[in-house]
Amino acid sequence: GDFAPFDLTDTARVAAEWVKRGTKSEIRIMFKGEARCIALGRPGHVQQVVMNLVQNAVDAMNGYETLDNTLEITMDLTYCEGRAMLTVCDNGPGIADELRSAIFDPFFTTKPVGDGTGLGLSISHKIAEEHGGTLTLLPQTERGACFRLDLPRGETL
Ligand code: ADP
Ligand code: MG
Repeated sequence: GDFAPFDLTDTARVAAEWVKRGTKSEIRIMFKGEARCIALGRPGHVQQVVMNLVQNAVDAMNGYETLDNTLEITMDLTYCEGRAMLTVCDNGPGIADELRSAIFDPFFTTKPVGDGTGLGLSISHKIAEEHGGTLTLLPQTERGACFRLDLPRGETL
């Protein structure tokens, strides 16, 4: 197909920047791990996935009080056995147990009518699969939600 090597770290930065520019709330985004993380695929599609994850984190924070009222998103980029992985974690309310099996379903949303289509995670999951990868919700910890995007690793650019 038309898969090509691209820098997942760079794609994640660009996606985060787009969402940041379109929101009034204060967002702090921290990057950990590989300064360059080369994946194989369609960077435009992967950018859509990351934009959706970041937008969901922003939406989850609306009306949710944190200590300093700042949304913090941590992006961690790692290689693991031929895979390039991006983990996106936020400091919002997290996702309730009873919703965890439904969030990837098309049209599932907890947002008011007109605010969310409920398609973001379903499309994002498809994009991951089209790459031979996965998009998974990680087990709940004490704070926020964490999603992991797993893609095939690319050779150098
Ligand atoms: P939409 O954003 O249009 O609601 P999505 O498919 O992107 O559709 O997300 C589905 C649902 O998953 C959201 O409505 C929300 O309930 C839940 N969700 C997704 N990401 C998060 C997050 N980071 N924190 C809390 N809930 C989330
Ligand atoms: Mg969404």
